[in-house]
Amino acid sequence: MAESGATLSNLSTESRAFPPSEEFAAQANATAELYDRADADREAFWAEQADRLSWSRKWDKVLEWNAPFAKWFVGGQLNVAYNCVDRHVEEGNGDRVALYWEGEPGDSREITYADLKREVSRAANALIELGVGKGDRVAIQMPMIPETAISMLACARIGAMHSVVFGGFSPGALKARIEDAECKLLITTDGQYRRGKPAPMKENTDEAVEGTSIEHVLVVKRTDIDVPWTDGRDVWWHDTVGTASEEHTPEAFDSEHPLFILYTSGTTGKPKGILHTSGGYLTQTAYTHNVVFDHKPGESVYWCTADVGWVTGHSYIVYGPMANGATSVMYEGTPNTPHEGRHWEIVQKYGVSIYYTAPTLIRTFMKWGEQIPAEYDLSSLKVLGTVGEPINPEAWMWFREKIGGERCPIVDTWWQTETGAIMIAPLPGVTETKPGSAMKVLPGIGATVVDESGTPVGNGEGGYLVLDQPWPAMLRGIWGDEERYRDTYWSKFAEQGYYFAGDGAKYDEDGAIWLLGRVDDVMNISGHRISTTEVESALVSHPTVAEAAVVGASDETTGQGIVAFVILRGNAAKDGGDEAIKALRDHVAKEIGPIAKPRNIMVVEELPKTRSGKIMRRLLKDVAENREVGDVSTLADSSVMDLISSGMKEGKED
Ligand code: ATP
Ligand code: MG
Repeated sequence: MAESGATLSNLSTESRAFPPSEEFAAQANATAELYDRADADREAFWAEQADRLSWSRKWDKVLEWNAPFAKWFVGGQLNVAYNCVDRHVEEGNGDRVALYWEGEPGDSREITYADLKREVSRAANALIELGVGKGDRVAIQMPMIPETAISMLACARIGAMHSVVFGGFSPGALKARIEDAECKLLITTDGQYRRGKPAPMKENTDEAVEGTSIEHVLVVKRTDIDVPWTDGRDVWWHDTVGTASEEHTPEAFDSEHPLFILYTSGTTGKPKGILHTSGGYLTQTAYTHNVVFDHKPGESVYWCTADVGWVTGHSYIVYGPMANGATSVMYEGTPNTPHEGRHWEIVQKYGVSIYYTAPTLIRTFMKWGEQIPAEYDLSSLKVLGTVGEPINPEAWMWFREKIGGERCPIVDTWWQTETGAIMIAPLPGVTETKPGSAMKVLPGIGATVVDESGTPVGNGEGGYLVLDQPWPAMLRGIWGDEERYRDTYWSKFAEQGYYFAGDGAKYDEDGAIWLLGRVDDVMNISGHRISTTEVESALVSHPTVAEAAVVGASDETTGQGIVAFVILRGNAAKDGGDEAIKALRDHVAKEIGPIAKPRNIMVVEELPKTRSGKIMRRLLKDVAENREVGDVSTLADSSVMDLISSGMKEGKED
C-alpha cells in the first residue's frame, strides 16, 4: 500500500507470467541483444532501422534535436509510397497479396502489390489532375475499403498530406477538421455498409464541405445508393482514377516532408491535429511492426482490426505493414455482422497468423461467450496484440486461452497518436509477459515513470509516464498551434525536457511497466492517489462483471469517493440487486484493499465510449457528481448518456 501523498498508488499484484516458448524464441525476428545494441549507440541503432527503407538520398545526420522539435535522418530523401508499394514489386514480389479485403456484405477482393502499384499510381495521377500538389491537404472520410489505403498512399506519393477522418463522424466533426487543415480535396464514398445495410455517406460529407476550402470531392462508389451531386465539384473515382494512367514516377521528398495530420480520438477533450512526417515515421512503424509482431514477409497473414481513421490504422494497417511487404487482412464491417463469430470466421478463412485488436473488443467477445470462437479453427494464429487502453488481466487471460490457444505470445502495445508508433511492448520471442502489463520500453526508445518532481520512481511505485528521448516517429507538432504543442506535452517537465504523455504508470516489483490510465482520471481517496485502471481490473476479475468504468466523485469526508459503473455478464445481468453489489464491493476490497472499495456501484447497460472504443470517464464523472453531462461530440453513441443518467440502478454504501 502506497504512502499517502505518493504520486500514484500501486495496489494490484500479478503473479502469473508467461515466458516465450523455446520454439517461438528460436525463430523470432528480435533477440535480446537488440536492447544492448540500442543502449550502446542509440543513433546508430536507428540508422540501422532506417536502412530497412529505400532512400533516394542518404541522410547526413541521424538526429537534430532542438527541443521540443526533432528532425530525423536530416538531408535524407525518400518516397513513402514507393517504399510501401513499388519497392516490393521491383524486388520480385508483385504477385504477393497486399490486402485480403473482406466486405461487410460478404464480398471480397484480393489485391497484390502489383495491383496496388497500378491503383496508387492511377490515383496519384488523378489527384494531380484535380489540382492537388506537394504540401496540399486532402481530407479522407471513407469506410474500410481498399480505396482508403490507396488514397492515403496516393497522397504520400505526390507529397500531399492526408487528414483521415473516421467514417462515423458527423458532418460537423468533419467540417471542423477540414477547416482546421484547410483541405483542398475530399475523398469519400457514396455510402457505407453499417450492420448489413447501406447508409449514406456523401449526403453527410456534402454538408461538411459547404463553405470550406474544398475544391473537389472525389467519390468512390461503394453501395450504389443515390447521392446528391454538384457538377464541376464532384467527380467519381471510377471516372477519374479509373481512367488515369497507371504510370507515375514517384518523386523523392525530404525525410522531414509532412506525411499526414491526424486528430486524436478526443477522450480527454478537444481533438488535437497531430502532425507526422516521413522518414522517421516510416522507420519506426516498419521496425516496430517487424519486431513486436514478429512479422515474416511472404509468410505471415496479418490483421489489425483498427479503423483506418485512427492512428493504429495509419501506422499498422497502412504504413508499417506495407513498408514491410506484409500480407494483410482488411475488414469493412462490425464484428457481429452478420453474426458474432465474424472475426474468427475471417481468421480461419485467411489463416491469419497475427491478430492485433483493442481491449474493448476483447471484453465484448468475452461477453458474447467463449463458445463462439470455439467453433472456428484458430490454429493459424501465432501472435496476438492489443492497443488503445490498459488491458485488464482477466481479458488478457481470456485472449490468451480462448483465442491464442495458450500458445501465442500477447503483445500489449502502448503508444499514442502523438508517438506515431509503438513505444512500450514486450518483444514476443524475448520478454516474459504478464497479463495486463505492457512490460518494457522498446529498444531505441526512452521512457520512464517519474514522480511530481520528475524523479524516476522505484520498483513497486507509480507515477507519470514520460518519454525522455526524442524518437523517430514523434509528432512534429499540433497543426497550426505551436503553443498548444509546447503546453500540452512539454510544459509539465520543462526543466527535465521530458515529453509528458498524460498517462499514469507504475513499475511492479520486477520493473515491468503497467499503464494505469489517464492522469486526469486519477482518484484521490483520503490522500491516496488511486488509478482507475486497477479498480476496474479488480471489478472485471469478478465472474459477474463484463465491463467496468470507475471515476472519483467529490466526497465530503474522503475528498473523492470511488463510483463504479458496471455492465454485468449475460447470465448475471438480471441480478443487480443489493447482494450482488455488496459482493462486488467486497471483491474489490479483497483484490486490492479496502481503500479502493467503491462508494457506489451502478449497474448500466452500456458505457460511454469514443468512436475508437475508449471509455470517456469524464462524462461518467458528470453523472456521478450530478452535473449536466459535458461535451459528447466524440462519443460513439450519445444516447448512451441519457440511458445512464436515467435508468441506472444504484448500489449504495452498506
Ligand atoms: P485525446 O488525446 O484527444 O484525449 P486519445 O488520447 O484517446 O485522445 P489516442 O492517441 O488514440 O487518443 O490514444 C492514446 C492513449 O490511449 C494513450 O495516451 C493511453 O491513454 C491509451 N493507450 C493506448 N495504448 C495503450 C495500452 N497498451 N495500454 C494502456 N493505455 C493505452
Ligand atoms: Mg491523448
